[in-house]
Amino acid sequence: MTGRHRSHWLRQILADDTDVAPALTGTAKADVAIAGGGYLGLWTALELKAREPALDLAIIERDICGGGASGRNAGYVLNLWAKFPTLVALAGADRALRIGRAAAAVPAEIAAFCVEHGIDAEVRPDGWLWGATCAAQAGAWDGVIEALARSQVTPFEVLTGHDIRTRWGLDGFPGGGVLEPTCATVHPAKLARGLRRVALAKGVRIYENSALERLERGRRPALVTAGGRLEADRVVLAMNAWLAGFRELRPTFIVVAAEAAITEPIPDQLAAMGWAGGPAVTDSRTMVGNARTTADGRVEFGKGSGALAFGAHVGAAYETTAPRLDLIRREFAQAIPRLADVAPTHSWSGPIDRGFDGVPAFGPLAGTDNVFFGVGFSGNGVGPTKLGGRILASLALGARDEWATCGLVRHPRAAFPGEPVRAVGSAIVRRAVIRKDRLDHEGLTADPLTRALLRFVPAGLSPTTVTS
Ligand SMILES: Cc1cc2nc3c(=O)[nH]c(=O)nc-3n(C[C@H](O)[C@H](O)[C@H](O)COP(=O)(O)OP(=O)(O)OC[C@H]3O[C@@H](n4cnc5c(N)ncnc54)[C@H](O)[C@@H]3O)c2cc1C
Repeated sequence: MTGRHRSHWLRQILADDTDVAPALTGTAKADVAIAGGGYLGLWTALELKAREPALDLAIIERDICGGGASGRNAGYVLNLWAKFPTLVALAGADRALRIGRAAAAVPAEIAAFCVEHGIDAEVRPDGWLWGATCAAQAGAWDGVIEALARSQVTPFEVLTGHDIRTRWGLDGFPGGGVLEPTCATVHPAKLARGLRRVALAKGVRIYENSALERLERGRRPALVTAGGRLEADRVVLAMNAWLAGFRELRPTFIVVAAEAAITEPIPDQLAAMGWAGGPAVTDSRTMVGNARTTADGRVEFGKGSGALAFGAHVGAAYETTAPRLDLIRREFAQAIPRLADVAPTHSWSGPIDRGFDGVPAFGPLAGTDNVFFGVGFSGNGVGPTKLGGRILASLALGARDEWATCGLVRHPRAAFPGEPVRAVGSAIVRRAVIRKDRLDHEGLTADPLTRALLRFVPAGLSPTTVTS
């Protein structure tokens, strides 16, 4: 679709990748119909094809595949170890371990999939550094590490600020950090478009520029668009933040913007620092900031917890340049002072489906046994959507296997009130978070009211941010 404000990643590849699938017209049928052509919809289709090659599958996508968060994200392929305490609370230690191990295998699985299918998604297994840009953030990971140790899992290497500076020239992490060496980065849009290409090659029908307008429920559910109707035995809803359009799911997550910016190539500076090929970095703010290098020597940096959607409206606020670019640049300069003068050449934003507990949920839509959803990736979906594809494939096939019964198959907690209470409440809590993050950096303690309001913050990168 022309005229959209695209991410750097999509702009980089769409000049050469001009293939647009036809829109849905008239009546079509499939064994399984999927709404949403991001990572989740595409991995689900690929997993279904891998298990039952004869299945007739069709995807409808309102834009182009990868036009949503999957073509705009920062490309961190993280696992779920930082969410381990939440997984234990949801599913018990044994199932949490199974989910954690499966999620930890995903970065290598994505790398292998890309090699097998000739997708040049720039997969770099350089690890993830979860750091502290001030003393108050130090130890944000302690609760996670303790919970993991109780299950004899030790994925993180603890580093001092000095270690981080010496290894990668990252001198804005006085509170140290922890390194998860098996995490990776990708070129997000190349991955999304590569998955699309493989899905098409395996016979998945894709209809682009085909927005779901109405779901018809019943024995044979159907996805209805402006131009057509796609009927199927089973339906999978993989529409990320846009699932807020479903009344049943709206109370279970809020839609917030994540914003991103990218610099011009600075390979010599990165090499001089020792960060070229170094880990992707996040801070431990409640509103998390990130910075990573790219294969062509740029730095991508950004921040979550931006604009909040009013009700179900995922509108123009998520299709723009980064509205908080000044703030993002300031925080980037704080984390990596020696790159403070490197200006971004492009910025963009996109929506995040932030559930209260920070881990995704999957299941049948209330009142149905043939329409399945996956939602609540909460800004950590690049890796976990591959796992989600397995879970949704099992649900769509009616399998009673380890995926259909894993702890993530559940109705997500309906934690968020309706409008206008949600908008007013979220704005108050958001201001408290901004205040807390600022005071942390000033070495000051937040007042009791601010601390009390933080209890209402949905889980961020780790569960510790809820109670901090
Ligand atoms: C700026 C940004 C940075 C991020 N960084 C990271 C990161 O570094 N690491 C990480 O793990 N996660 C990150 N995320 C989150 C990650 O991108 C998502 O969790 C992941 O892409 C979710 O995949 P998805 O398929 O569910 O969503 P999407 O890719 O958004 O796919 C949903 C699709 O549904 C389509 N759709 C919407 N409405 C309709 C409709 N009515 N009919 C048909 N189709 C519809 C959309 O166009 C979209 O293509 C980031 C997100 C953003 C926005």
